[in-house]
Amino acid sequence: MPTYNYKCKDCGLSYSIELSLAEKDSYQPECPDCQSCDVFQTFNRVGVLGGSKTGDVSGCSASSCPSSCSSCD
Ligand SMILES: [Zn+2]
Repeated sequence: MPTYNYKCKDCGLSYSIELSLAEKDSYQPECPDCQSCDVFQTFNRVGVLGGSKTGDVSGCSASSCPSSCSSCD
């Protein structure tokens, strides 16, 4: 299940929640700490979109990765 990350504007709490696509549609973001609804979604690169597990090098391969990232061994 995808994990979504949210941050509360009121208290600054960052939290993540697992939601199916159907749940995401009806999910009303609310801070679990202060119950504020002034919460916005944040994005990181922890596999939410099914991309690279290690993040910031896209399309590398073992022989041509420019930075010898950890995903190409
Ligand atoms: Zn809060």
